[in-house]
Amino acid sequence: MAVRKKFPKRKITVPKTCYFCKEKVEPKYSDIVPLQKFVSSQGKITARSRNGICAKHQRRLTSSVKHARHLALLPFVGQ
Ligand SMILES: [Zn+2]
Repeated sequence: MAVRKKFPKRKITVPKTCYFCKEKVEPKYSDIVPLQKFVSSQGKITARSRNGICAKHQRRLTSSVKHARHLALLPFVGQ
């Protein structure tokens, strides 16, 4: 059996608390600045395992990012 070369695991720091619960704000399509934090450079919405957002706010974030994309406030694809 071939020995698989192990790559060192990259450490991803995941915030323990939800950003929206902490700040006591709701994700809104018109507030682009907090939404941009959870969108990657490629324009993808980051996963809950990466951004530490609770399930309720992740659902609302997803729909508000999609709404903002439709209104051309956020890009569908990054550079
Ligand atoms: Zn939350």
